[in-house]
Order: sequence, then C-alpha cells, then structure tokens
Amino acid sequence: MNSNSPGRQSKIWMDLDLDAERKQVGFFRLPLAVHDRSGDDAGYNYEPIPFITIRNGDGPGVLLMAGNHGNEYEGQIILMKLVQELQVDDVCGRIIVLPAANAPAVRADRRNSPLDDGNLNRQFPGAPDGGPTAMIAHLIESALLTRVDYAVDLHSGSLSAEYLPCAVVARPPESARIDDALDRLRVFGMPIGMFIEHSTGGDHALIGACRRQGVHHLSTELGGGGSVSREALRIAEHGLRRLLHHVGVLRRPLTAQPPQECRVLRRVPASDYIYADSSERGLFEPLVGLGDEVAAGQTVGLIHFTTTPWREPESVTAKVGGVVLCRRVPARTGRGDCVFVIGRDWTSPLATAVSDR
Ligand SMILES: [Zn+2]
Repeated sequence: MNSNSPGRQSKIWMDLDLDAERKQVGFFRLPLAVHDRSGDDAGYNYEPIPFITIRNGDGPGVLLMAGNHGNEYEGQIILMKLVQELQVDDVCGRIIVLPAANAPAVRADRRNSPLDDGNLNRQFPGAPDGGPTAMIAHLIESALLTRVDYAVDLHSGSLSAEYLPCAVVARPPESARIDDALDRLRVFGMPIGMFIEHSTGGDHALIGACRRQGVHHLSTELGGGGSVSREALRIAEHGLRRLLHHVGVLRRPLTAQPPQECRVLRRVPASDYIYADSSERGLFEPLVGLGDEVAAGQTVGLIHFTTTPWREPESVTAKVGGVVLCRRVPARTGRGDCVFVIGRDWTSPLATAVSDR
C-alpha cells in the first residue's frame, strides 16, 4: 500500500485494489504480532477492519467513518445500511466507508481499543510501527485521507453522555471557505449545527488530520448514553444522503426529505462547561434538559448525598448562559464530573466585520 511518506508504509495489508473502478468489500488486516498483541492462543493473528470502496469515474472523493469510538452506535448503523444500498451507478467519484474504524473497540463494545486502550481520535497522525490504534490512525491519514476531498465522521455521546443531535464542522482556516462549511451544515440539516474553533483532541484528532491533508471535515454527535436514538438516526441518515449529493459524489440524493432548519452554535470553552464540585459523590438531579436555555448563575441541578440523607443537597450552577448541548448520563456524580456542555449562538466573523464598521 502506498503511503504519503516514503519509508513509512503501513504494515496493515489488504487483498483489494483500493483504486479499482467498482464496488468492493473486504478487510484491512491489522497484524497483531507486530507488538505481540496476539494473545496466548494465536501468534500471528490479524484484526479485521471492514471497509467498502465504490469508485466510478471522475468526481470528488469522500471518506465515511463510524466506530471511531466503539460504543457510539448510530453512525455504525447508518453506514452499514448505506453500503448495502449503494451501487456503482449511484456514485460519481469515490466513496470509502469504514463503519467500524477502530474495529477492536467496536468488537469489544468500548470507547477505546482493548488492545492498547487507544482512543483513535487522539492518535493522529499515527505511526506504521506504533501500537494497534496508532497503526489504524496512520492508515487513515496516509492512505485514505490522501485519496479524498471530504471526510464525514459519525460520533454519538458515548456511554457517559447524551448529545442533542447535531452536525459539527471545524471552522475553516480561510474566511472565504466559511460559507461553504455553513452550506454543508445546512444541507446536512440537523436541528443544531456546531462550528468549532478547536477540537478537544487538537492535531491528534481526525479534524487535525483533515487539516493537514486539506480535506473538508464534518462530524456529528447523535444521541448516545449507550443506546440508539431513533430520531437522531433518522435525521442523520437523510442528512448524509443529502450531503453526499450536495458535494457531487452521488448522482441523485437517495432521499426526498428536506433538511430541517439548522441553528448554528459554538461550544463554549471547556472551562465554562458545567461541572459538579461537591465535596462528596452523590446522586445528580438535573433541573434542566437537552435544548434548554440556561442563564449564568442559574441552578441547573442538585447533588443528593445518600450516606447522609438528612443533609441538604448541594446546588450545581451554570457559569455562563447558553443552550444545553450535552448531558452526563450516569446519576452518581462528584467533583470534576461534567454534567452539562453549553453552546452559544455562533456569529460569522464576516457579519461581525460588517457590523463593526
Ligand atoms: Zn466519539
């Protein structure tokens, strides 16, 4: 397999020709013996990472990913359904699909890999001779992102958090591309669109890899909490089809559903999220829910202490005002646990520049 950096070729192999003009299904094969991750009963095993590639003539290239975190489910279902439906004639250009990007994590039903505890979204650009998760990150950045113009990475809230369904784009470095990124958010048509200045994982997240490779990035947060949100799955399924048609890689949209009106928000800095700060762990009673507006200083929850039931609960208050984008799922909560993530309306710097004049 070719890599964009000579001498840094991936040790992950496959039996297919990634550039062939047809629909192919198969596996990237991640050798486990490289770092002796093979276990007692299997010296030379590989970990299969399923992928699908459809190529048909000239046109844009799109990478579709889910299972970047193994226990986020809506995106995995959306991509499995899509690849069973898509045929060569639907495509104009190329679509590469990784429905279980961190396959060991998906297999184990965990956020991170059971092989090395690797969080794929913190391992870019990866390394061909790193641990299993770093090898997958390296494959994605050096062999897949180099073949595409767009990457769509479908996330959900994981076990510990539930998100208001939203689509997310990184703010493009050049102001001239902001309108295109906003267009993609509106075409995807989730009720919330989020512009982020910096991703939590910085250069080591897929967003950083996309920036290095000049690839347009879009991701989602679809429900979470260890379950599958029927509503988030439905709207994202249609949104993805509209987006693929919008960027020109599908000849027809494969959906008749129009996009929903999209409110564009930005996440506040992590220091302004709402955290429990109680002296003792207890049961968190939320007083607001997803989508609610909160004001700075508002009491948004109470922590009740089960070991001293006669003690008054402690209040949790919002540091800044905004919309509740994400909530903590486990009830047992203590100091340092993030209970709510807040978003605020995003204003285009172009609009600000005009109004500042
Ligand atoms: Zn995730």
